Amino acid sequence: MVIIGGGLTGATAAETLRKEGYAGPVTIVADEPEIPYQRPPLSKGFLSGKEGEDALLPLAATWYGENNVTVLTSTAATAVDPAAHTVTLANGETLPYAKLLIATGASPRVIPFKGVELDGVHYFRSKADSVAMKELLSAGGHNLVMIGSGWIGMEIAATARELGNNVALLGLEDVPLSIAIGKQLGGVFAARHEEAGVKFVLPSSAAEIQGTDGKVSSVLTTTGEVLPADLVVVAVGVVPNIGLAKDAGLTINNGIEVTGSLATSDPDIFAAGDVANSLHPVTNAYARSEHWANAIASGKVAAKSMLGQDAVLDDIPYFYTDQFDLGMEYSGFGALTKDADVVVRGDLAAREFIAFWVLEGRVVAGMNVNIWDVQDAIKDLISSGRTVDTAKLADPKTPLEAI
Ligand SMILES: Cc1cc2nc3c(=O)[nH]c(=O)nc-3n(C[C@H](O)[C@H](O)[C@H](O)COP(=O)(O)OP(=O)(O)OC[C@H]3O[C@@H](n4cnc5c(N)ncnc54)[C@H](O)[C@@H]3O)c2cc1C
Repeated sequence: MVIIGGGLTGATAAETLRKEGYAGPVTIVADEPEIPYQRPPLSKGFLSGKEGEDALLPLAATWYGENNVTVLTSTAATAVDPAAHTVTLANGETLPYAKLLIATGASPRVIPFKGVELDGVHYFRSKADSVAMKELLSAGGHNLVMIGSGWIGMEIAATARELGNNVALLGLEDVPLSIAIGKQLGGVFAARHEEAGVKFVLPSSAAEIQGTDGKVSSVLTTTGEVLPADLVVVAVGVVPNIGLAKDAGLTINNGIEVTGSLATSDPDIFAAGDVANSLHPVTNAYARSEHWANAIASGKVAAKSMLGQDAVLDDIPYFYTDQFDLGMEYSGFGALTKDADVVVRGDLAAREFIAFWVLEGRVVAGMNVNIWDVQDAIKDLISSGRTVDTAKLADPKTPLEAI
């Protein structure tokens, strides 16, 4: 069993292979110098210094040796030959496989802003990126311009501000996060940021990143503002790492197209995590999730499928974020929320509420902010597909289980 990609998906798949009793050889090919780590703390607790290295490890460093799993760190896979059942490595060696999992994740989207090559301009995906940024931000007093108003841009903005830096944030939305959760709810996060002193310049982008002596000094926005900057972080989404799969002739469709069991167009090759676009049995539509819970769930399903078991990725998508004192969890089918009505239970102004997206009388997604232990009930509302009384849904006195 060969796994390309030493992220959370790859680690979970290796662990599942062993848990399911597979005793043969397992190799993880990982191009980063680290053993597998998870990324959510990189823009939150690890960046702020509240969490250490341990928070990054889904499996203890000793687990791999104890379970006879080989991790080839700092080793990129450069080609997959489906006919020969081999993976070529950057050092020229080839690895044979019986079943292969491609879990190569995603990379930051690169936009050729003028001045993007200046010293002080950063992308943000890896542990190395977070370590470098922590060193820069922890002393405070920097002028950071964030480009990108999505989850990662907002998280880095919050952490940087908490560390005492000046933060301005640009993005293409009128309200941050509105593509994901709409303007009303994005506004709750925006208000918390503004209260903490984050300056939003929305909607806008960078017309030019300006510098002196090769180092960034300011950002000229497309709205004509000049924002002082000695640091710029570009966080404008990610693109799936499909190169190997494409070259191997696998079907590509917004990532590597896979069945509900995560099989690619080659029966011995599977794909999971951020790189995989899988057919979801509930929506009967393809969805590519770029979230932590999907890395775990799909890593498990892929491993079981590699072992010939009947496994399907049918989880309700889930993710979370932490920004200042706002903790949030979300479950549901984002693609179905576009035409849905939003029903709020609780107090938006107090930032303690659950928001439900209701489409044709049924809950298709739910998000709890600073209210806890309600995810099971939210997922049950979604998965049961039962019609709901929206007045009861909005009433905190009616238990969710009774709706
Ligand atoms: C800063 C940050 C914060 C996040 N916060 C949250 C959050 O709060 N909540 C949430 O739900 N999700 C969050 N996410 C998303 C979550 O981390 C991803 O969904 C998850 O990392 C996907 O795991 P993966 O293993 O599929 O991919 P990755 O984590 O990208 O791992 C893939 C690995 O494969 C390697 N690789 C690629 N090509 C090759 C090759 N040819 N050979 C060898 N190795 C290769 C890559 O270098 C990488 O190490 C966050 C992501 C980031 C970057």
